[in-house]
Amino acid sequence: MSGEVNPFESLQEQIDDAAAYLDAGDDVIERLKHPERVLELNLSVERDDGTVERFEAFRSEFNGDRGPYKGGIRYHPNVSRDEVKALSGWMVYKCAVVDIPYGGGKGGVVVNPAEYSTAELERMTRAFAEELRPFIGEDTDIPAPDVNTGQREMNWIKDTYETLEGRTEPGVVTGKSLDTGGSEGRVEATGRSVMLTAREAFSYLDKEMEGADVAVQGFGNAGSVAASLVDDLGADVVAVSDSSGAIYNADGFDPRDVKQHKNETGSVSDYAESEESMTNEELLTLDVDLLIPAALENAIDADLAEDVRADVVVEAANGPLTPGADDVLTDADVYVFPDILANAGGVTVSYFEWVQNRQRFYWPEERVNDELERHIVSAFDDLTEAFERRDLPNFRTAAYVVAVQRVVDAYRKSGNWP
Ligand code: NAD
Repeated sequence: MSGEVNPFESLQEQIDDAAAYLDAGDDVIERLKHPERVLELNLSVERDDGTVERFEAFRSEFNGDRGPYKGGIRYHPNVSRDEVKALSGWMVYKCAVVDIPYGGGKGGVVVNPAEYSTAELERMTRAFAEELRPFIGEDTDIPAPDVNTGQREMNWIKDTYETLEGRTEPGVVTGKSLDTGGSEGRVEATGRSVMLTAREAFSYLDKEMEGADVAVQGFGNAGSVAASLVDDLGADVVAVSDSSGAIYNADGFDPRDVKQHKNETGSVSDYAESEESMTNEELLTLDVDLLIPAALENAIDADLAEDVRADVVVEAANGPLTPGADDVLTDADVYVFPDILANAGGVTVSYFEWVQNRQRFYWPEERVNDELERHIVSAFDDLTEAFERRDLPNFRTAAYVVAVQRVVDAYRKSGNWP
């Protein structure tokens, strides 16, 4: 994984690429390339042995023109201010492309959670929530899970917030467990939108999903669900990986069985049906019909992109291709369907969770999945319509053209303050 590309610069380049096709004005675009506010914190957390450790933490509120800031909280040793800024910007455009009434935010703590006990992680999360309290709320900024955080952390944040505020407000975070106000279908939502995007893409490109070879890099929440759901469409998931490495079987795996193996052993390696082990780079350059990068950003840089042989790439991860890789794949006629559409299922069902929380009225899973499908298919159609009508170079630019235009329209219609 290349650490050389600054994800915030990638985001700004993507906005510039879209702006070249829009009549928005340089001043407006400049404003849309920077966060409105970035909070930088040092959390003091007591370890189980009584010592106190300092953790760096961030929350970036990028743009609120279309609604409250919305975005996940990541726990990872590589979290940085620029990474959080980039991720919060991608959230703005992701919410705009699927047309849900949110702006974008993102948070993170520089930590490897595997090195801490549950009690230590709870104290750290509650310390973070306490510092965030003046800024978050169901009408202001709504956190959600991201890498290495999930329902447990969201429940802790909600509980801390509600205790300090002295009232219930389940919509302050999304991605909660069902019994604390979560939504049916939320856990699968990101992988489901990846599947829906792949299904629509194959249909648009006149390609058969039945029997298509698929490789998935990163077999976590997003990747494992996407793998299972494309398998349900008849595709063959021939390769999957996690940070321990990749496994391959030309006949395809049963992704649900691989997931069970990962749950039991902690990794996909040593899965009995694997014919061959390989590196993550080898997986990314397999000759497959569909490649789903579902790990972290910058997985494919320009050099590696030269060797990518997939016909279609659907991005489950945020920012898995560097801008250089994007150029190489555009020139090579590899169709890339971007993260801000493909993984928008997570935030879309977060939106449904928030709507249910505010109404105190909960939907069955079928309704959640139907509404999600409607949003993703409609966004896909908007994107391909822009791609054709404006003769755009690739689908990423099309997604940003649609999304940036929607944010610009919201900004213009609101006027300037003061
Ligand atoms: P996760 O922690 O559940 O899974 C990440 C997986 O990637 C793990 O299996 C990990 O072992 C693997 N991985 C890490 N480094 C790797 C490497 N170098 N090569 C191969 N595999 C590697 O996280 P997740 O929630 O599935 O998120 C994955 C990506 O999807 C992130 O970019 C995240 O921002 C994005 N995303 C997730 C959601 C969501 O709802 N979960 C929503 C939108 C976007």
